[in-house]
Amino acid sequence: MSLSELVEAGVVTLDRRTRDGAAADRSGWPGAGAPRAVARPRHIEEVQRLMAWASATATPVITRGAGSGLAGAASGTAEALVLDLSRMDRIVQIDADEQLARVEPGVITADLDRAAAEHGLMYAPDPASVGISTIGGNIATNAGGLRGAKYGVTRDHVLALDVVLADGTVIHVGHDTIKGVTGYDLVGLFTGSEGTLGVVVGATLRLLPRPARTATAAVFFADVATAARAVTAITRSGARPAVLEILDGATLGAIDDAEGTRLRELGDAFLLVQTDGYGAEEELTVIREAVGALATSFDVATDAADADRLLFARRQALPALEAIGRPLIEDIAVPRTRLAEAVERISAIAAEEDVPVFVFGHAGDGNLHPILVTEPAPAGAPIPPRAQIVADRIFALALELGGTITAEHGVGRLKREWAARELGPDVHALQTRIRSLFDPDGILNPASSL
Ligand SMILES: Cc1cc2nc3c(=O)[nH]c(=O)nc-3n(C[C@H](O)[C@H](O)[C@H](O)COP(=O)(O)OP(=O)(O)OC[C@H]3O[C@@H](n4cnc5c(N)ncnc54)[C@H](O)[C@@H]3O)c2cc1C
Repeated sequence: MSLSELVEAGVVTLDRRTRDGAAADRSGWPGAGAPRAVARPRHIEEVQRLMAWASATATPVITRGAGSGLAGAASGTAEALVLDLSRMDRIVQIDADEQLARVEPGVITADLDRAAAEHGLMYAPDPASVGISTIGGNIATNAGGLRGAKYGVTRDHVLALDVVLADGTVIHVGHDTIKGVTGYDLVGLFTGSEGTLGVVVGATLRLLPRPARTATAAVFFADVATAARAVTAITRSGARPAVLEILDGATLGAIDDAEGTRLRELGDAFLLVQTDGYGAEEELTVIREAVGALATSFDVATDAADADRLLFARRQALPALEAIGRPLIEDIAVPRTRLAEAVERISAIAAEEDVPVFVFGHAGDGNLHPILVTEPAPAGAPIPPRAQIVADRIFALALELGGTITAEHGVGRLKREWAARELGPDVHALQTRIRSLFDPDGILNPASSL
C-alpha cells in the first residue's frame, strides 16, 4: 500500500495543523520540523498495515499517545510518520472477578480508573497527568505517579501486551493470569521501552480493590531539606503511605499564583501524605508521630473534597511552572535516605549558577523533579547553555548519590547522552543489540533513547 492509498483510506493525514501539533511533546522541546504525516489508526490491522508500509519504505515511525511525555520522545521529526494511537481508546473488558482490565492503548488513564471504580476496583498507577495521558504512553514510559509510594509503577500492573513489531507482525506477550513465568519477561522489556521495540496495541492490566478509606494530611516545614528528612522518618516508621509528595516553597508560590491558593504562607516546604485502607486513620497517626517536631504544622483533611483540593494543587505544580516560563523538566531519583542531601545540593547548584530551580516530586519513591524555568525561548530553540550546565550538574549529582537520571519520564531525546553514561558501555551495547533484534532497520523512534 502506498502513502496516498493510506491517506485515501482515512488512516493517514497530511494536514499541516495536525502535523504541527505532533511536532513536540509536553517537554516543549520539539524535534526538527513538522512530521511528514500523521496516522490515526482505529484497529490493530491498520497499525499492522502502517508498520508494513513504514518497514518497506524505511520510514521512521514515532509512536504517540497523548503527547504528554516530558522527554521529547513523542516529538515528530521531518522525515517521520507519527503514529497517533489516541483513537484506539476502548476499554474492552473489566473483569471484576479476576480483577483485571483489557484495554486499547489510547484509553486515558483516569478513564480506566473511573471505570474500575464502578466495580469497587482501582487502576493504581496515577501520573499527575492522569487526566490526559494514555495507557499506551504510560506503558511505554513505565509511568509512575502519586500513588507510587505504595503501589509502585506501571510495570507492576501490566500482565500482558499485544504489540505490533516493526515489520507489522502482531504478538501477544505475558500472561492473562495474575501469575505466570513461561519464557522471558517480554512484558517487562516492552514496558518502559519508549516506543523503540514495538507498538503497544492492547494491554491486560491488573486492578486492585479500591481502598475502603483514605486519610490525607497537609504537612508544612520550615525548609525543604527538613521535609526531605521527614520522608526518611516516615519510611522508617513502618507506615506505608499511598501518596507521599514533596513540594518546595518556590513551587508552592507558583501554584498560589496560578490557582489562587495560599499554600506558601503556611510554610516553605510541603509534604502531601495520604494513607489508605481500613487502617488509614491509624496509619496517619503513626506518620504524625514519626514526623514529630520536624513539621511546623500537620493538618488532616476534613473530608474527601478537602483531600481532593490538596491532590489537585499538587497536580498543578508543573502547569503552574509552565505559566512562568519555559521549563526544562528533570526527573532524578536518589536513595530515599539521601533526599535531604539531594535537595540541599540542588539548591546550592541553582544559587551558584544563578538559575532558578523549583523542586517537587514523588518523595515516597525518592523521585525529585528539579524544574529549571529558563528565559522564554521560541519553540525549537536549543536548551539555553546555562540551563544545560545546571541540568548536567543535577544528573551528575543523582549518579554520585547512587541514583538515576530518570525515574519515570524516560530518556527520550533529551537524556540520551546521560543514559549512556549511567548504563555504562557494556549494558549500553547490550541494549543496542536488543533494540536491533526487534527493529533491525532502526525505524522505531530512531532519535529517541539509547
Ligand atoms: C502535568 C504533567 C504531569 C505529569 N506527571 C507525571 C507523573 O506523575 N509520572 C509520570 O511518570 N509521568 C508524568 N508526566 C509525563 C507523561 O504524562 C507520562 O510520561 C505519560 O506516560 C505519557 O503518556 P502519553 O500518552 O502522553 O505518551 P506520549 O507522550 O505520547 O509518548 C510517550 C512515549 O511513549 C511512546 N508511546 C506512546 N504510546 C505508545 C504505544 N501505544 N506503543 C509504544 N510506544 C508508545 C512514545 O513513542 C514516547 O516514547 C506528566 C506530564 C505532564 C504534562
